[in-house]
Amino acid sequence: MKPMAGGALRDGRKSLKYILESPYLNVAIPGMDCVEQVIVNAKAADGIKLADEERQEIEKVAKELGDTFCRRCGYCLPCTEGIDIPTLFVMESYYSRYDLKDWAMARYKNFDKKAEDCIKCGICESRCPYELPIRDMLDNVNDTFK
Ligand code: SF4
Ligand code: SF4
Repeated sequence: MKPMAGGALRDGRKSLKYILESPYLNVAIPGMDCVEQVIVNAKAADGIKLADEERQEIEKVAKELGDTFCRRCGYCLPCTEGIDIPTLFVMESYYSRYDLKDWAMARYKNFDKKAEDCIKCGICESRCPYELPIRDMLDNVNDTFK
């Protein structure tokens, strides 16, 4: 899921090639909302290997994302306090990674339940298949939108 790392990787061809060349993975599920994206993504199966520098470029982004990349699967829900955990992470990424600070801030302010409402019960973390440190990540969301 999220082979483009939620938009952190902009080149679909390279991202999908990276996955297809992995000995550990054989399926990628990219989201596509226009014909151009379908065409670009299909080129990932052209049989041409990634260049070393392309591979390093992807690995650099993966390293920057670290162990805190939410795939938005929603398995952590429901939150004890009704926080929409993955959507708050999406808002944080829109704020931090895209040029959408005002938009993300306005959307965040409209949420009934915000990161500051987390009571740190930890139930969500026990459900996350990626073992993300959700409580710490929500602290980061809170700091971002203070
Ligand atoms: S730790 Fe926070 S976000 Fe997770 S279920 Fe508990 S209240 Fe919700
Ligand atoms: S279970 Fe983990 S990866 Fe999935 S939406 Fe929740 S925090 Fe994100």
